[in-house]
Amino acid sequence: VRALRYYGQADVRLDEVPEPQTTPGRVKVQVDCCGICGSDLHIYRRGSMGPPTRERPHPLTGELLPVVLGHEMAGQVVEVGEGVTSVSVGDLVAVEPLLICRQCQFCRSGQYNRCVKMGAVGNSGNGGGFSKYVVIDEQFAHVLPEGVSLEAAAVAEPICVGWHGVARSGVGPDGTALVLGAGPVGLGALLSLKAKGVGFVAVAEAVRGARTRMAEEFGADLVIETSSQDLAGEIGEATQGMGVDVVLEVAGVQATLDYAMAAVKKGGTIVNVAVWEDPPVLNIGMLRESSITGSTGYAFEYPLVLQAIADGRIPDPVRMVTRRVPLDQAVDQGIQALIDDRANQVKILVQP
Ligand SMILES: [Zn+2]
Ligand SMILES: [Zn+2]
Repeated sequence: VRALRYYGQADVRLDEVPEPQTTPGRVKVQVDCCGICGSDLHIYRRGSMGPPTRERPHPLTGELLPVVLGHEMAGQVVEVGEGVTSVSVGDLVAVEPLLICRQCQFCRSGQYNRCVKMGAVGNSGNGGGFSKYVVIDEQFAHVLPEGVSLEAAAVAEPICVGWHGVARSGVGPDGTALVLGAGPVGLGALLSLKAKGVGFVAVAEAVRGARTRMAEEFGADLVIETSSQDLAGEIGEATQGMGVDVVLEVAGVQATLDYAMAAVKKGGTIVNVAVWEDPPVLNIGMLRESSITGSTGYAFEYPLVLQAIADGRIPDPVRMVTRRVPLDQAVDQGIQALIDDRANQVKILVQP
């Protein structure tokens, strides 16, 4: 079968690879669609933060580069391994792409997103969504609730990242929030905040375009275009000079961290969700009793997000999809388009 594999910085190739085999406790999924993630762009542009590298295998999969890319996928179960009980052949599923050891203290205490050996399908070996089949643990194949499409299930991945960031922030319905960055994860955070009933949510993005338009469509109370508007002034005006309770940093550049510091309420919380290509400078003396914390991945959140999509608390997230491409155009029309045309492209789905 064909697979899009990552070899190194700006080196992604369409290869022929053996079809993955189903093993006990695992299920084979025929991939219907798989989103291109911001993290795929980082890997493509800057190289992977690894492991795996060409010399150092991933501790869980034992694989070296190249690895198949693509971790935001949904599809149909075509085969189940021995002992699998919760899914059947023919089921439509969202694939939670995490690879975990199940043995470390984090895994055993329900914090598997912190697993010491954490990996992901589509990053670490064990296949990926930019190919026709993946084989995953039964636990991570989530049968779609009625009314949730395969495309919505693929888009659920970045929403789960946003959902977990919101959970880490501790914001409640009477709180106020600012999301920095209106890409898929930022929009996912916005949708999650609104699904949890947060009354005031501002979203900031550098320039007007598809992302700011979607932020408006997805229910932001205030959309700030930072290239032409004064973010601190806008937030100050909207919050009686208090600042927001929580800031979700989803952009990951120096300017947005500075905005976060300027917009957070004294005693508030900044949650970093972003992947940083360059480490920022943090003026820690300006925290003034606010906290800064991290958020990584998700744990037990796929079913919550899929249910929220099913019952309409998250209204049709497929609206963030701006393009669909076949596997052989995933680089030119997908990855490259997201890098070059941020103004018009938000989420691109690959159909392998
Ligand atoms: Zn992703
Ligand atoms: Zn673990």
